[in-house]
Amino acid sequence: MLSPEELSRYSRNILLNEVKRNGQEKLKKSVVTVIGAGGLGSPALLYLGAAGVGNIRIIDSDIVDTTNLQRQIIFKHSDIGRSKSESASENLRSLNPYINVEGIQARLNAENAKDLLSGSDLVLEGSDNFDTKFLVNDICVREKTPFITAGVLRFEGMVMGVRPGKDACFRCVYENPPAPEHVPSCADAGVIGSMAGMIGAIQATESIQFLLSDSERDSGLFGKILQVDSKSMEFRTISTARREDCATCGTVH
Ligand SMILES: [Zn+2]
Repeated sequence: MLSPEELSRYSRNILLNEVKRNGQEKLKKSVVTVIGAGGLGSPALLYLGAAGVGNIRIIDSDIVDTTNLQRQIIFKHSDIGRSKSESASENLRSLNPYINVEGIQARLNAENAKDLLSGSDLVLEGSDNFDTKFLVNDICVREKTPFITAGVLRFEGMVMGVRPGKDACFRCVYENPPAPEHVPSCADAGVIGSMAGMIGAIQATESIQFLLSDSERDSGLFGKILQVDSKSMEFRTISTARREDCATCGTVH
């Protein structure tokens, strides 16, 4: 049940035919886990929290660093040196005290991933490394948890949604993690902060629509990859195809 304060806070959502009061209550009951409170996680978390997604779990093992603040807008200058999961949770609660936010200071690995992601209606992956992206893919496919994975570098970004058993998974498309020396990171190649903001906001927008819809919705970024090149401001959407011999989802129906 939404309180009068919540009805007022979310009134611009509730005005939408696609949301209404029922949809807002659905968002309140939803559980979303965000992996990585970084350039993508920051805007995604702020928009999910502001929209009233009722249960948000934040997983990150890092500490806020000065170089993060150019794009990781959930943090303040005074958060430098603090745990990301803790300060992101605190800042999100102060934006919206009507939601539950749980910060977990941990690095996702093969041992803890199943537990840390359990109970999620949706997982958002916005980490800065391919090992985590593949791990999230493999666990979410096995547990049949829908997820939206995204990446950003320099002036470019990508987003991909996966409903396990229905859409191609990350491994159908990329097969194996590239060798680390072949993958530039934001730390050595740079990234435009607002570019991460754009991609993180797309993850949040897609999440909200996913949580509101039945999972049969045929639009959006599930079963697709969106590639954004902000230099040319070109947005390209490519449909993904499942591979029968995919090591992760080949046997998942
Ligand atoms: Zn696959």
